[in-house]
Amino acid sequence: MLLLLTLMGLCGFTAYRVVQQLGLAELQTTGLHRLDLYSTSLEREIGKYAFLPDTLDLERDVLALLENKDHATLAAQVNVYLEQLNERAGTLSIYLIDTSGRVVASSNWRRTDSFVGEDLTFRPYFREALESGHGRFFGIGTTRGEPGYYLASTLSDGSKTLGVAVLKVSLEQLEKSWATVETPAMVSDENGVVILGSVANWKFTTVRALEEKTRSAFDQTQQYNRRALKPLGLKELRELDHGARLVSIAKDDPAIASAYPVAGRFLAQSRPLPGTPWTLTVFSHLKQVDDIAQSRAALAVVGTVLLFMVGMMLNERRRHLKDRLAAREALQQAHDELERKVATRTADLSTANQQLQDEVSDRIRAERTLRAAQDELVQAGKLAAIGQLSTGIAHELNQPLAALRTLSGNSVRFLDRGDLATTRSNLERIAQLTDRMGRITGQLRTFAHKSSAQLQAVALDRALDNSLALLEQRLLQAHVTVRRDCPLPAPVALCDADRLEQVLINLIGNALDAMAGHAAPCIELSCEALGQLARLTVRDHGPGLTETVMSQLFVAFFTTKQAGVGLGLGLSISADIMRDFGGTLNASNHPEGGAVFTLEIPLSEKGAPHE
Ligand code: ADP
Repeated sequence: MLLLLTLMGLCGFTAYRVVQQLGLAELQTTGLHRLDLYSTSLEREIGKYAFLPDTLDLERDVLALLENKDHATLAAQVNVYLEQLNERAGTLSIYLIDTSGRVVASSNWRRTDSFVGEDLTFRPYFREALESGHGRFFGIGTTRGEPGYYLASTLSDGSKTLGVAVLKVSLEQLEKSWATVETPAMVSDENGVVILGSVANWKFTTVRALEEKTRSAFDQTQQYNRRALKPLGLKELRELDHGARLVSIAKDDPAIASAYPVAGRFLAQSRPLPGTPWTLTVFSHLKQVDDIAQSRAALAVVGTVLLFMVGMMLNERRRHLKDRLAAREALQQAHDELERKVATRTADLSTANQQLQDEVSDRIRAERTLRAAQDELVQAGKLAAIGQLSTGIAHELNQPLAALRTLSGNSVRFLDRGDLATTRSNLERIAQLTDRMGRITGQLRTFAHKSSAQLQAVALDRALDNSLALLEQRLLQAHVTVRRDCPLPAPVALCDADRLEQVLINLIGNALDAMAGHAAPCIELSCEALGQLARLTVRDHGPGLTETVMSQLFVAFFTTKQAGVGLGLGLSISADIMRDFGGTLNASNHPEGGAVFTLEIPLSEKGAPHE
């Protein structure tokens, strides 16, 4: 606000001063033109009469009268002549003064207050004319008190001065040239008394203070005929260049009617009038210039305020733009940062994805390897079982072989004796034994054969039969009671017979191991159909499963058996096989003692398999 106020003040003041100076300069130019105009017209007006006094000596009577002053007829003639001349020229009066200063003839000879006979030696124009040949004077007539301009010239007969011809011009005549005055103007004489003024009551005022000496001189010359000579009230304020000055004129009489202001501040320009001791002054009123300067100053103040506001707005806008730009930049930065983060994350993700894919393919590879290893293990498990069973199998086969040997030896002897009936019965027995042996080897071949992954309908009683047949020797040796609880027709499950038998052999084998040394070993086998599932249970009467064993039962290579007896693979392979069938294998302890293994396999929709 302070800045704005200071700016407003400065601009207003500067505008005021500049416009005022410009206005003054313009006023000065106009004033000079007026001075030219007025002075020229005034000169012309005076010039019209200037030659007239000089021409009077052309009139013989005039010179004759001046030489012979007391000649009455001559005086009368000259009087008439002057009267006529005065009338024609339009002057106030024309008269002749002899060298002694006495008026010898006058145009106003008819009037009672005629100049004729008057002594005018006191008039300066007379003395001046005698001294220099010409005299000029402004004054107020002593007889009629009429102001006028006196033009005097000496008249001579060629050798000596005879007298002085005087012509008085009325001020009114001179004032005619003031018709075009637009602003106040005046003419002051050498004493500073206004003798011509465009304003009526300026006349006979003084533009400067008169000294007492001058005033007394006036009394002597009766120049102003004892007029009051009041001061005009002109006060000089400031001197300008080219003779111009700023003045103030005091208000004189409010009743003066004038086309232009006559009081106040003015620009005054003066110039001496050539051929006279007078000074012409024109006044240009400053009010207009002041008004214009004031209005321009007000405009400048308003302009400053506007400019200031526009500046403020622009500044505000610039700041606003700057803020917006900064915000946009920040946004761009945030965006770039986000993009960079997204790119990093994407790269990380794709790396992680790649890693995951690698891991997955590793897992798939590992699973394949595992699957192959499992298959191998299943195979190995079978071979191991065959190995375990080989003693029993050998025994199993030895028995029929020995029987075959005995029967065939006996048959030969019975044939020799001609006992055909006994020979026949022996041969029939031999055939039965070879059938039994064929069954045993067939089962072994089926078991050892690598199982196919194809699932088929398998009757559970057949699977139980086959498994028990393979373990027959061990069961007999251990005097194990086998209890079977299987409804007929037995449930048919969707699985692989070989591998199911492998699981059963494993479970029954484990049961036999668990009941080793048991007084009355017993294995209970059951099968049933439950909804969509076939359930098989293998229960023994052994010690059951401890908590430690239970927790690791299906872990590969977990075994409590002596080295060389068990590999710890049986249950883990069995569980895998059941999984392959889409079934389950669970272990628990029977409430009455012993372990129970439960197999659940989806039932086959096709029903019983073909023989
Ligand atoms: P292995 O028979 O070669 O030891 P398995 O996986 O078949 O391998 O059995 C793992 C272990 O589970 C056995 O060592 C045994 O301790 C325990 N086990 C399995 N079946 C029975 C059972 N019927 N009664 C008690 N323990 C059992």
